[in-house]
Amino acid sequence: MTTATDIWVLGDYRNYFQSRVTLQILARATHLAASTGGKVCAVVFGHGMDEYVGEYIAHGAEKVYVVDDPALKTYAVETYSFLMTRLVEKFKPATLLVGATRFGQEIAPRVAKQLKTGLTADCIDLEIDPKGRLVQIAPSFGGNLIARIITPHKRPQMATIRPGTFQELVHDGTAKGQIIRLALPTDMPTEKIRCISSEYKPSKAKGIEKADIVITGGRGMGSKGKFKKLFELAALMNGEVGATRPVVYANWIGHDALVGQAGKAIKPKILFAFGISGAIQHTAAIADADFIVAINKNPNATMMRMADVAIVADANQVCSGIIRAIKENIRD
Ligand SMILES: Cc1cc2nc3c(=O)[nH]c(=O)nc-3n(C[C@H](O)[C@H](O)[C@H](O)COP(=O)(O)OP(=O)(O)OC[C@H]3O[C@@H](n4cnc5c(N)ncnc54)[C@H](O)[C@@H]3O)c2cc1C
Repeated sequence: MTTATDIWVLGDYRNYFQSRVTLQILARATHLAASTGGKVCAVVFGHGMDEYVGEYIAHGAEKVYVVDDPALKTYAVETYSFLMTRLVEKFKPATLLVGATRFGQEIAPRVAKQLKTGLTADCIDLEIDPKGRLVQIAPSFGGNLIARIITPHKRPQMATIRPGTFQELVHDGTAKGQIIRLALPTDMPTEKIRCISSEYKPSKAKGIEKADIVITGGRGMGSKGKFKKLFELAALMNGEVGATRPVVYANWIGHDALVGQAGKAIKPKILFAFGISGAIQHTAAIADADFIVAINKNPNATMMRMADVAIVADANQVCSGIIRAIKENIRD
C-alpha cells in the first residue's frame, strides 16, 4: 500500500497541555500538503490515547494511524522506533516530521537509520520546492548560517522541528478524520531496557512566566559564553533568564526560555533586556512588564524606546558592572 505524497507527523502527546509541538507541526504540514497534494496524517503509539487522536484531527490531521496496546503504555525507544519504521515501510509516506523534543530527538535518528534515509535535526522552517521536495531549513555552524537541505533520492524525507516554530491551527471540533487502528506486530523486539517505575518531578525553578525579576538577553550579548553572565546576574537577583528567538536557535539557552509569540509571555515587576532589538514577535509578550530597563548600543532600537530606563552601552559591560556592584554590596 503506498501513500507516497502523504506527510506524517509523529504524535508526541506527553505533557500535552504544555508541549503543543505536534499540533504546531500538523499546522505546517497542512500548509505543505496544499502544494504536494498528499494527506496530513498523525501517527500515535501508546495505550489509551483516544483523547489525543481527537485533538490531532481537530488540529488538521486527516488520518491518524493508531497503535494502542498495553505493551506500549511506557515509552521505550527500541519498540517505538521499530514500530515507526514498520509503519513507514508499509504505508510509504513522502515525509515524516517529528518534534525536536527529547522524545523526538531520541527516536527520529533511529528511525532514519533503520530506513536508510536522511534526517535534518532542529528545523526552524519547512517549505516545498518547485519539484515538490521538502526543503528543510535549519540553523548550522552555531546559528551563524541557515541551511536549506533537501533529501533528493531517499524517502521518507525526515526532519525534527523545534517546538514553538509554527503556530497551531485553531481547534476545530467539527473536523472529521479517518482513524486507522493497527495491531502490534507479532515480531516486536524484546526490550533491552525495562522501566520499573517512573515519577513526575516538578521543576524547582519558578519559570519566567511567574518570576518577578526577569533578565532577557538577545543576539547583542554576542556569544554563548558572554550570554552565560546573565545566569550569574539572575542568580544574584533571584530572577529568571529569558531570551529572544535567535539566541534560542543558536542554543545559547533552551526553548523554555523563549519570550515572545512562539514562546512565553512574561509579566515581571522588573525586566532587564540586554542586547535586544525589540521585534514585535518578542515585545508582544512583555507588554505586561511593570518596569523595563533596556541596554543596547543602538539608542533607536524599539526595545530602548519602550523601556522606562534606556542605557546606551555595551550589554556585556553593563551586565558585568551590575554583577560587580551587587557582589561588592553583598560583601559590605
Ligand atoms: C513567525 C515568527 C515568530 C517569531 N517569534 C519570536 C519569538 O517568540 N520571540 C522572539 O524573540 N523572536 C521571535 N521572532 C524573531 C523576531 O522577529 C526577531 O528576529 C528577534 O526577536 C530578534 O532577536 P534579537 O533582538 O536578539 O536580535 P536582533 O534583532 O539581531 O537585535 C540585536 C540587538 O542587539 C543590539 N546589540 C548588538 N551588539 C550589542 C552590544 N554589544 N551591546 C548592546 N547591544 C548590542 C543591536 O543594536 C540590536 O538592537 C519571530 C519571528 C517570526 C517570523
